[in-house]
Parts: sequence; structure tokens; C-alpha cells
Amino acid sequence: MAAFYDDNTIEEIRSRADIIEVLSQYLTLKRSGSNFKGLCPFHKEKTPSFMVSPERQIYKCFGCGEGGNVFTFLMKIDGLTFGEAVRTLGKRYGVELRSSGSTADRESVRKRERLFEINRRISAYFQRTLADVSTGVPGLEYLLARGVSDEAIRKFEIGYAPEGWDNLLVKFGKNERDREALLELGLIIKKPRGGFYDRFRRRIMFPIVDIAGNVRGFGGRILPSVSDDKEGGAEPKYLNSPETPLYHKGRLLYGLNVAREAIRGEGFVALVEGYMDVIGLFDAGIRNVVASLGTALTPQQCRLIKRYTEHPVVFFDSDGAGTTASLRSFEVFSNEGLSPRALRIEEDKDPDDYVRRVGADEARKSLASASPYPEFLIKETIKRHNPTSIDGKLKVMKEVLPHLAKLETQVEIDHYTEMLAESLSIDATAVFHELYKLRRGGKVKGEITGPSSLEFWGDECGLLRLVLLDGDMLHQASEVVDLELITSSFLRDALNFCFFSHREGRTPDLSALLDHVDSDEKRELLTKLAFCKVSEVDKRKFSTLLDRLRRRSTANQARDVHKRCLAAISSDGAQDKDSLELWTEFMRLKKTAVLK
Ligand SMILES: [Zn+2]
Repeated sequence: MAAFYDDNTIEEIRSRADIIEVLSQYLTLKRSGSNFKGLCPFHKEKTPSFMVSPERQIYKCFGCGEGGNVFTFLMKIDGLTFGEAVRTLGKRYGVELRSSGSTADRESVRKRERLFEINRRISAYFQRTLADVSTGVPGLEYLLARGVSDEAIRKFEIGYAPEGWDNLLVKFGKNERDREALLELGLIIKKPRGGFYDRFRRRIMFPIVDIAGNVRGFGGRILPSVSDDKEGGAEPKYLNSPETPLYHKGRLLYGLNVAREAIRGEGFVALVEGYMDVIGLFDAGIRNVVASLGTALTPQQCRLIKRYTEHPVVFFDSDGAGTTASLRSFEVFSNEGLSPRALRIEEDKDPDDYVRRVGADEARKSLASASPYPEFLIKETIKRHNPTSIDGKLKVMKEVLPHLAKLETQVEIDHYTEMLAESLSIDATAVFHELYKLRRGGKVKGEITGPSSLEFWGDECGLLRLVLLDGDMLHQASEVVDLELITSSFLRDALNFCFFSHREGRTPDLSALLDHVDSDEKRELLTKLAFCKVSEVDKRKFSTLLDRLRRRSTANQARDVHKRCLAAISSDGAQDKDSLELWTEFMRLKKTAVLK
């Protein structure tokens, strides 16, 4: 987790940004003993299982497992990177941010910030140009004709790039360095014979804004030309920023910055294809909508959605490309463990047209009752083949069954297998038979690597829990536990962190330890351990546990001595005395370790 800020800065922010205060801006916390309790913002629940410890500055949900410190909380809830979370809190608590790392690192941070600033200024320029009567009329007329409200224009920061080849170039590319930045941001294009020209001309401009409010890139929609009624002539209807240091289309979702509150409130998100779909639905009062940026949905985008909801509804255009794209996005969602649903529109071209025709209430109802993915898949696949012919039936089975085989529960499998059989007018037994053939070929989920490593994990995990909770036990353990023998590298590092803090005369700072943890699972484990209580039974168990770990250490030594002994016996120049001594040592160790 290479942040650009030095450890002191992070420490200072952590000490000033009180976890209760920060989290209270997102949920209601009530005191419960020495901790605080509330409804988890990461999953839906009616009784609170989200615990916050002001003393340890960590949180943990006992319903869904989420856990971490102030930084991870902001990262999860607002979709920030670690650096962005540090910056947000630093700003709020007035901590001056000092960069760490090499001059090259600092230089690259500064450059990135400068690029963000240029994008921000250019987005403001596009918005001014739209608002100004002397320049913005063509853009405003178009938006008015499409029924886009003032509120949407403001919220989505919609702007206008006027006619002309060098508007941006003249305004923002005065010197070489500026032109280079514009080029890097994809706002101007180099001419083959030297010189530059603006990429976006006579287009409605949609800035693509990330969760932290930074303008990452732009999408532009061409205005229909006055002279010919072909849309934009030779120019593409939609044009996006190319991939730049700030803009990676596969990692952003259009409208998420506006939609996130509504997504949490509604409990699901509608995923559409275009900017105008997001805006059209927004104006109809449906605000939990985001758009993929003209690409097939990527796993990164899917994870971005997952931070806000587990329930996506795919709502794509009604044409063939739209259907193919929805089927593909289902794959991605399923692979990320989400159960998507889909809304299919028959009579309209896209969601924007649809909501205009049926109205907001109807659209909202349809979204809320969209079909689960398997049902959508069965219907759409049957549409593409002739289900009355044998050949068509086989094709449908071949396409649908691998998806049904992946379903989690038997209830779902039974339900959709029967639905498929019925739609194809064939006997369900035949479909089941094919399905099980497929399932047998697949892998079993969550295979265990071996009981011995699990058993060790138990002891080691138990040790970590006790040393995190109890100073005395930490002291004892730091004296006797040989870290080399801890089999899990994660637990070894965590224990090392605790022992190190102890030697320095400090209580291990769990919140700081969490910054070094790279997976959700491990974070969940650590935060869970910290909320346990130490009981009398634990204290009794602790000595047995230490004993077991000590014996394991001795057993290891014994194995080592045994090996050396055997080597001494078999080597020619060995002194009998050497091997005898080693043998005696081995026997002694074996006795202490109770080796089998
Ligand atoms: Zn939860």
C-alpha cells in the first residue's frame, strides 16, 4: 500500500480523526458499553451488528464481516484509494500532508495533481460556454429538446465544446508545457505535419467524475448538424477521452458520484449504457443509475458497484448489441459473486426513451421487479434460436446449461432447470441429466488444503487474539514464541508487529496494523479478534497454547538435530563422538517435544 504520505502524517491524521466522529457522518452510532453500535452501512440489517471501538479506533460488522480503521472505512464507503482517504481526512482535520518517497514519487504526485487541476478548469470552461448565450445556444437547444433539466445540467456538470478547431488550444495551451499537458489528457490531437487541434468540437460535454469529485476525463456527444440531417456527418456520435494517466474507462462508472446515496437508499443500482440514459432517468426521479463507459463491464467496475450494493439491475439498449452486452455483464457480475437482474425493454430503443414513454412510476416498478439473470438468459437465448426444432433446442441447452450449473443453491438450480425444460417443451429429467454431467466436470468450491495447516492456523490465530487483547499475555508470548515457526506468514507478520510494539514499550496499535493488511479477509479476521473478550478460560488455555507452540519449536529443533546426526553417521570422516552427542541431544529434545 504505497501511499505518497509519510508515516508521521498518517499517524497524525489517525490521531486527530476520531473514528466515532468520522463514522457518525455516515451512520447513527449509539454507545454500548465501551464501544459504539449502529446499523451497518455495508449490508442491509434491522438490528445493529456494526461495532466501533473508540479505544482501538477500529470498526467491525458482525453481520457481514466488514472491518477496519478510519481509512479503510472511507475507502469502502466512498470508493477512495488509500491516498485519497488520507488526503480527505488530512484536509478535514487540518493536517499538512507531507509526501514520503523519492523525489520522483513526489514529482509524479505533483504532476498528477496538476493534470487534475487542468481537467477541472477545462470542465468549468465547458460549463461556462454552455451557460453563455453568445456561445452556448446550440448546446442548450439540444439539451432542451431532449428535455434535460437545469438540475441535471448542474449535477452532472454538463458543458459545451463550441465549433472550431482551437478553442481549448488558444485558451489553455499557451506554452509548450501546457500543450503537453493537454495532449496527455487527450484534449488536443497532434497533426501529422506539426501543430495541434481540439479533440472535442461542437459537442455536448459530459465530464467523467470519480467518487472523490475529480474530473477524470470527458465524453462528448456531437450536435446534429444544421446543414445535413445525418448526425454529425463523418464524426462519431459519441467520443470519449482516450486512456490517459487519469482516465481508465474500465475503472470508472459514469454518474456514480451523483448516484451513490440513492444506490444505498434504494438498495440496488441500475446499470445503463449511455450518459443520456443516466440523465434521462435522473430527471424522471430515478437516481440510482450509473453507466459503464461504452465498454463491456469490467471486474473493476463491478467491484466499484459492490461497494454500494450487491444488487445490480442491467438495463441496456434493446438492440442486439445491448443484449450481447447484458449477457456479458452478467458473467462479470456472477464471477464477482453478485446476483444481477435484468430489465428488458421491447418497444423502445433505450432506457431514456423508455422512461419518457411509460413514466417514472412504471419504470421504477419495472426496475424493482426485474427478472433474475437465469430467467433473462433463458428467454433471450430462446429468442435467438428456433425452439421448435431439435437443433434449436440443443443449441439453447448448450448455451444456457453452463450458467445454470454455476448457480449456488439447489432451489435455484431446480427452479431454472424446470423453467428451461418447460420453455423448450422437453422433459425436465433430460435437462437435469445434462446439467449434472456438467457439474461433475466442475471443481468443488472452497477446497481445504489439509487439516494440519488448519490446526496450526487455530493455535496461531488464538495466540494473536490473546496478545492483542492482554498486555500480560503479550509479554509472556514475546519472550517464548519463536516467530520462525509460525506457519502463516500473515499471522507471523501480525505477531511480529505486536512483539515489536511491546519491545518499544507501546501497546500494539491495531488500527495502524490494518494499514499494512492487503486483503479484506485478513482485515475482517483482525478486527473480529479485537472485539473478543478475554475470559478465565482463555487465561488457562493460554499456557497450554504456549506450551504447544514451544513444543512445536523443540520438535523442529529435534528434527534438525536428527538430520545432522544421520548425516554425521553416514559421512566417512565423522567422529563417533559427534554422532553420539547429536544422538543424545536428539533424544533429549524428542522427550521434551513428545515427538511421535
Ligand atoms: Zn455489515
